[in-house]
Amino acid sequence: MFFRVPFLVQILFRRRIWRGKDANAVYLTFDDGPDRDTTPWVLDLLKRENIKATFFCIGQNIENNPSLFNDILENGHSIGNHTFNHEKGTKTEKSTYINSIYKTEALYPSEFFRPPYGRMNVFQVNKLISMGKKIIMWTWNAQDYKKSSNHAHIIEKAKIIQGRDILLFHNSKKSAQNMKKSLPEVIKIVKQKQLLFKLLD
Ligand SMILES: [Zn+2]
Repeated sequence: MFFRVPFLVQILFRRRIWRGKDANAVYLTFDDGPDRDTTPWVLDLLKRENIKATFFCIGQNIENNPSLFNDILENGHSIGNHTFNHEKGTKTEKSTYINSIYKTEALYPSEFFRPPYGRMNVFQVNKLISMGKKIIMWTWNAQDYKKSSNHAHIIEKAKIIQGRDILLFHNSKKSAQNMKKSLPEVIKIVKQKQLLFKLLD
């Protein structure tokens, strides 16, 4: 798995959004929350660093952690839909998949959608685009959820971050250790590159 998504992949799946618009900015995103182990920690850090980010939330986790979800909103961050039960599109029937997205939409409507595992079939993509959704992928994946990953490696790979990149971290028990040890350093590196942090638009 690559930290930087190859350009060819971006071309092949051109109806999905892989990069932001501003060459002087990066776009920080967090998947899978709200999560008690990581989300409060991230919100504190982002407040101190004066950074706004986009959280792609799982509907079930919004239902389980309503006050944590409110904290994300109250801190001025943006929300994206990440399905209700983290379904893998290519393994899920179209109607089940779309229902899962609507169920999450009912909790909080957002124009942004990110497919779990990055996987979706062409029918699902067509349907989402017809619903007016922006399908947001990522350019740089911290892979903080991987057992084989470690924070030093993630920090090393942050050197390749450049303007317009959409950065992907996770809010989950699995990613907690790698994320907490690497994110502050990654933020530092991005700031040293004199790049801004922006919300997706
Ligand atoms: Zn996910």
